[in-house]
Amino acid sequence: MEGLVHYAYLISAVLFILGLRQLSSARTATRGNITAAVGMLIAVVATLIKQEVVGYGIIAAGLALGSVAGAVLALRIQMTAMPQMVALLNGFGGIASALVATAELLDLRPEAGAAGTPFGIVSVAIVLATLIGGVTFTGSLVAFAKLQELMRSAPIVYGGQQVVNAVLGLAAVGLGVVVALDPTAMQAFVGLAALALVLGVVLVIPIGGADMPVVISLLNSYSGLAACAAGFVLDNEALVISGSLVGASGIILTKIMCDAMNRSLGNVLFGAFGAASEALAGSDQQGTVKAYTPEDAAIVFQTARSVIVVPGYGMAVAQAQHAVRELAEELEKRGIQVRFAIHPVAGRMPGHMNVLLAEANVPYDKLVEMDEINPEFPETDVVLVIGANDVVNPAARTDEKSPIYGMPILNVDQARHVFVIKRSMNPGFAGIQNPLFFNDNTMMIFGDAKATVLELVEALRQLD
Ligand code: NDP
Repeated sequence: MEGLVHYAYLISAVLFILGLRQLSSARTATRGNITAAVGMLIAVVATLIKQEVVGYGIIAAGLALGSVAGAVLALRIQMTAMPQMVALLNGFGGIASALVATAELLDLRPEAGAAGTPFGIVSVAIVLATLIGGVTFTGSLVAFAKLQELMRSAPIVYGGQQVVNAVLGLAAVGLGVVVALDPTAMQAFVGLAALALVLGVVLVIPIGGADMPVVISLLNSYSGLAACAAGFVLDNEALVISGSLVGASGIILTKIMCDAMNRSLGNVLFGAFGAASEALAGSDQQGTVKAYTPEDAAIVFQTARSVIVVPGYGMAVAQAQHAVRELAEELEKRGIQVRFAIHPVAGRMPGHMNVLLAEANVPYDKLVEMDEINPEFPETDVVLVIGANDVVNPAARTDEKSPIYGMPILNVDQARHVFVIKRSMNPGFAGIQNPLFFNDNTMMIFGDAKATVLELVEALRQLD
């Protein structure tokens, strides 16, 4: 039976890796989810038939509780609130690993021989799972609270903060060494667990809401590392492999997000981004803007040969993706080429725009990545920006003083005509004004993204 379980774990690990591979393309992502889910099912069944299981009742109760809570959350959560949902899931993953480590420590304590080997693999893994799992748990709760606006999302900073954090971090490492040397040192273990929980809070509060999705991706990576450590505690290779896959993919995603914002991870974690930019919110207007009605805009659209749609966070808020697909079809009926330009950090989570447009059945081949579409803008008749702001801000290219200077953007300002749909002149997530709106070739259409796009569709039909 044990041999069978090992084979099952091996198969599930292969399926996890294949699933991740398939998840890297929108075309195969659904299949990737199913592949990985089958891998997880095999791993769960294999674990359940292990001889170590002491009682199925408590497992069934946990499974029922977790499944109901997960299903209710997944069905109720808005697409725009997905980052905080992921934060919660990471947090629960982290605390689960820390609790597994605690249980194992308590279990092994009487026969200290097994866990008591100084710096033995089990005692080190217990320390790591507790430390990383604890930090992940409370850090994720703070990230959740910031994004859900249950607490101030701006960075909470004070003098000497980094010194305090460093001292707490060193104290946690010190206690970790004590526990790794002697897992029977219960007081040191309790201190370590408490410090891990405190560290999660103090490390995340100085980070602004704008950077929370990056922090969540990093905490996702941590939750994987904690699970990997728990795998060593339990001597469970499926947990070791899946934990390291989560750890690695989380850190890769974190790097992609930092690169897309032209920021280092250090700057995200310690730069308190958002504290300064809040002061700039809605600051000095730069000239006048031209406001167009959807009817005026429809006339320009009708004469275009090529249109590039740039979706952003506002499209997600307004749930305008179906209306946007309708508009694209209406334009294509007139022989106009329509493509969608996708910025890697448009919206509030990686792939946000891809997911929404896929939900509205926009064909994948019409979605073009930033690097590929940027050279096309100068040859494009009309760009329609729908609820995007920071990702089309030319100040990132031209204004060295701008907080987003150096961030790669979609060069929409180079197109012949630019229409921007948003409700007001309010800034985007970075809290800074956008000179694009004041350009001669930019026309603003003020209004909710969904209602305005539907009005534009209607106006186009009226022109026939
Ligand atoms: P922004 O947050 O820059 O701008 C969104 C715009 O949408 C706002 O200016 C807002 O203007 C408008 N808007 C909001 N609601 C509506 C509505 N109902 N109808 C029409 N417009 C609306 O979004 P972007 O997508 O351009 O940029 C994403 C930002 O998020 C970047 O700063 C990025 O760095 C950051 N970020 C993204 C991550 C990711 O993974 N995607 C991760 C971390 C950060 P108004 O209020 O006037 O309507």
